[in-house]
Amino acid sequence: MREVLVNSILYGTQWTGLMPIFRRLFAGRAVIVTFHEIQRDFQHELMTGTSVELFQQCLSLLQRQGWKIVSLDECLRALSQNEANAPRYAVITFDDGYRDISSVALPLLEQNRAPFMVYVPTGAPTRSLKPWWLGLRELFRRADHVTIDPMGVKFDCSDFFGKKVGLKAVTKWVHEDYRRAASLDRTFQNYGISLSALNAAYFLDERELQALSRHPLASIGGHTTSHAALATLDPSSARAELEDNRKYLETLLERPVRDLAYPYGTPGACGPREEYLAGQAGFSTAVTTRKGCLADGNLNRLALPRFGVGCHLDALMSFEANVGGVYAAGQALKGAVSLRHRS
Ligand SMILES: [Zn+2]
Repeated sequence: MREVLVNSILYGTQWTGLMPIFRRLFAGRAVIVTFHEIQRDFQHELMTGTSVELFQQCLSLLQRQGWKIVSLDECLRALSQNEANAPRYAVITFDDGYRDISSVALPLLEQNRAPFMVYVPTGAPTRSLKPWWLGLRELFRRADHVTIDPMGVKFDCSDFFGKKVGLKAVTKWVHEDYRRAASLDRTFQNYGISLSALNAAYFLDERELQALSRHPLASIGGHTTSHAALATLDPSSARAELEDNRKYLETLLERPVRDLAYPYGTPGACGPREEYLAGQAGFSTAVTTRKGCLADGNLNRLALPRFGVGCHLDALMSFEANVGGVYAAGQALKGAVSLRHRS
């Protein structure tokens, strides 16, 4: 229902040219944008990240619409000052520490003078991560018939569409219960998929991360040790995931690390307990993947919302609508409708 409502507003505003009015009424003062991979060969990666063309279009759109792209630090400082007539701010973030941030995204970020944040789990540069999402992509890319035993499903996926559908179904199954990720290990072994080889192929190594951290536009934040869904762990394990990751990055990069992205960032992966633990572990900001803009005044700095950029064909239009306040308008309308129903 919510999706239908938001999409109706989205398409309506696009067709009627009302986007500037929506932006004035509903867009927040700032927006944090989530990216993962910036892919040169979007098709080869089964359209799972952001194509380089779409990434450039998102940066251009933000610049064209007057969003000032700043670091997270500067954004939060400006919001706390609550200045009249201040510009709107956009913060660019990348989760997981993919190598293509340096090799593909960085020249575009430099051209746009865009500061950016990279959230890195310890396991990526140390090559101990178990990136089940990359394992599944590799599996569906290679095989024309895939059996996922713990799910009890066989996929015939000899063409691109079949591979996309199969990958999406298994990914959704893991997201429904993050503990299922570990049950895929045997499947990867059966098909000869090496997660450590995928670590080496896709993620920045320690030297590359050190070099990126010295770039004047870059900031580095934590993303836990093993990219665990913290809410599924006992308190001491969750605390260790946060503290160990921060210490590791601070030692490697020889600078303070005070910013965090919760792995997955969904309500099933992080909540008030994780906000408390993040503060205890020494983080002063933490981002989720819950949708929303940032407003002036009292923000919960340990549960900041973000907008992701989709990988579907109308991703740019959805992105424009989200940062332009259409999502917020949908939420406001939904709230008003449910109030009327109750009264
Ligand atoms: Zn992540």
